[in-house]
Amino acid sequence: MLDTLHRIVKAVNAAPDLEHALAIIVTQVKRAVDADVCSVYLTDFERRDHVLKATEGLLQDAVDKVRLPYHRGLIGLVCERAEPVNLADAPSHSRYLFTHETGETQYKGFLGVPIIQNRKVLGVLVVRQIDKRTFADGEVTFLFTLAAQLAGAITHAQASGNLTTQNDLSPPKRFLRGQPGAPGVALGTAVVVYPPADLEAVPDKPAQYPEQEEEDFRTAVAGVVADLMAIEDRFEESLPAEDRALFDAWLMMLGSDSLIGNTVRRIHEGNWASGALRETIEEHAKVFDAMEDIYLRERASDVRDLGRRILMHLQQKVSTPSDYPKNTILVGDEVSAMQLAEVPHGYLTGVVSAHGASFSHVAILARAMEVPAVMGLSNMPVSRMEGRSLILDGYLGRVYVSPAPSVVQEYRRLADEDRELHQELEADRDLPCETTDGTKVPLYLNTGLISELNTLGIEESEGVGLYRTELPFMVRDSFPGESVQVTNYRKVLKTFHPRPVTIRTLDIGGDKPLPYFPVNESNPFLGWRGIRISLDHPEIFLTQLRAILRAAIGLNNLRLLLPMISHVQEVDDALMLIQRAHDELIEEGFEVTMPKIGVMIEVPAAVYQVEALARRIDFLSVGTNDLTQYLLAVDRNNAHVAEIYNDLHPAVLRALIQIVRSAKALQKEVSVCGEMAGNPAAAVLLLGMGVDSLSMNGGSLLRVKWVIRSVSCGSAKELLQAALRYERASEVKALLSNALEEMGLGGLMRAGR
Ligand code: PEP
Ligand code: MG
Repeated sequence: MLDTLHRIVKAVNAAPDLEHALAIIVTQVKRAVDADVCSVYLTDFERRDHVLKATEGLLQDAVDKVRLPYHRGLIGLVCERAEPVNLADAPSHSRYLFTHETGETQYKGFLGVPIIQNRKVLGVLVVRQIDKRTFADGEVTFLFTLAAQLAGAITHAQASGNLTTQNDLSPPKRFLRGQPGAPGVALGTAVVVYPPADLEAVPDKPAQYPEQEEEDFRTAVAGVVADLMAIEDRFEESLPAEDRALFDAWLMMLGSDSLIGNTVRRIHEGNWASGALRETIEEHAKVFDAMEDIYLRERASDVRDLGRRILMHLQQKVSTPSDYPKNTILVGDEVSAMQLAEVPHGYLTGVVSAHGASFSHVAILARAMEVPAVMGLSNMPVSRMEGRSLILDGYLGRVYVSPAPSVVQEYRRLADEDRELHQELEADRDLPCETTDGTKVPLYLNTGLISELNTLGIEESEGVGLYRTELPFMVRDSFPGESVQVTNYRKVLKTFHPRPVTIRTLDIGGDKPLPYFPVNESNPFLGWRGIRISLDHPEIFLTQLRAILRAAIGLNNLRLLLPMISHVQEVDDALMLIQRAHDELIEEGFEVTMPKIGVMIEVPAAVYQVEALARRIDFLSVGTNDLTQYLLAVDRNNAHVAEIYNDLHPAVLRALIQIVRSAKALQKEVSVCGEMAGNPAAAVLLLGMGVDSLSMNGGSLLRVKWVIRSVSCGSAKELLQAALRYERASEVKALLSNALEEMGLGGLMRAGR
């Protein structure tokens, strides 16, 4: 059964649209459980009924016509209960409803299972039997396991189906739903980015010069033929002839008309070579995927492998897209910080990523660049997005594809409002950041995620509260040497001099792997990350420390920050290495000085040992992004759980209060440098807690300043007390929204998570 299940799910995932997906489901499920009928009903939430969308066994004419009202019949019962209903004799059940239009006789055996995604019933998968039949437990679990996996495929196919033609079929108000990544709205054109040699990720794109595309494709195939022949020659001695026959089979495939002819035909029908290749390979591989014979089924991976090899040759010609349109909206399965930084200055209007969530580093980067972003649209048909006109709503996490004129008009209006808000914020640019009762709240900048310094916030910040050092390590193919690092760090230290710059030591691991330092772990966020790697590799750590200390010579505005601290021993070991780097440099004649040293509080263990940590260092900086992730046990990058990741969770607020209290007891300065600090509403709570300073991306500085200039310390404390009475993050958020609304700062809340 498991095998059949995998096969069906795979076939459904590869279906081009919903209709095909459902056709596969009903035929294959009917066969698998040997039923007389298999049908799928999908719920129409607007019309409040369940529509027959596919059937094998009932009249085909009934498809899309038969509609069962919400709370009627057995289908309605399955939806209400959100659990399987298994009846040997359905007509004797009080909820049984006979429908003529389907051509049904009185089927007795009935098994209906709900199709559920994100706690929402999307429809029902049902099998029927003329005779009395109680479906066996194994059959029930087979159907609901399948239904659970199909929910995603169905929503994906639904979204793809809406995009099957260039003239969209989508109703004017349809949108793809994701997570808010960076606030703002954007109107622009989709440019799909994808990792190299990933055939599945290749988008469809119009072939501008089909003759040229055909020639490129044929050259690429010839390249693969030459590669394979060379490999075969190399194995002539060592491999027996029957094993080498495999090469001949591949070479035959490469010469076959089904591969060459079909791809060339697709090119001349309008797709570019890489897109045409993807379609042909998928079609070919699917034939093998559907075979019962395990050996033949394995051949599907050979076909895909050949496809990848051809693509690699094709990509030697086309590298990254060089012609970005003026309002580029970068779209990808997993958009990387690198791809964002590659778009020429002034061209990037928005970012849409199928994976990731609002605390992924790419979303943080988008916020820093003031570019709206939507994350975690797991149902987005990425390959069909190239060149589409898009509207992106970074406040609500929505993406409209080829939007209707009325939607465009509405969003133009919102974009204008945003611009006005921006102008109002600008008016505060030169005013001090202090509360109405005169308490100064220094605002610092988070920077370092893009190679050149982001100009946003350089002027209006009090310095850098968090300089992430990972990027220079990520863009190379080996660890950067000491002098390269000195140049990088000195640039930031000089730019902000005499204001302080807090440089954080390397925090790789988690979602920031280094291509040349692979760490394969099933739980990277709980694994070898941050200070743990630095301490295990003192040669890497000492090089970085030496570079940081040298960069500050003569400037003396450096503060050093240690990430991911969970044990006091890590601080002791790090302090020893810092001292060693310092002493070595002095011995070598460099006039370095010892900077102030701080630790990040971003792991629950550190919350409970703040005093012990604080005694060892000069300042504390709270990383609420990770602290929230680890306190709530919610992966900050995982779109599936993004809705329960919330830094306004009462547990996070209480942890923060405890940190501030402990730090104050030892007269140690405490700042917050996670994204929470840049959320204007949350900033008021942090102020109420007595946090000394806030550090955020450049895009948030003026928003936070605006709100701080509108409150007193007393009212911030009162708001915090009110927030602490709630048990849910949603209630805290509602409280803050109302409070800001009352202060006349409602515009800011649109950006509020
Ligand atoms: C944090 O965890 O809050 C933080 C500031 O660090 P990063 O986002 O780089 O993990
Ligand atoms: Mg962190």
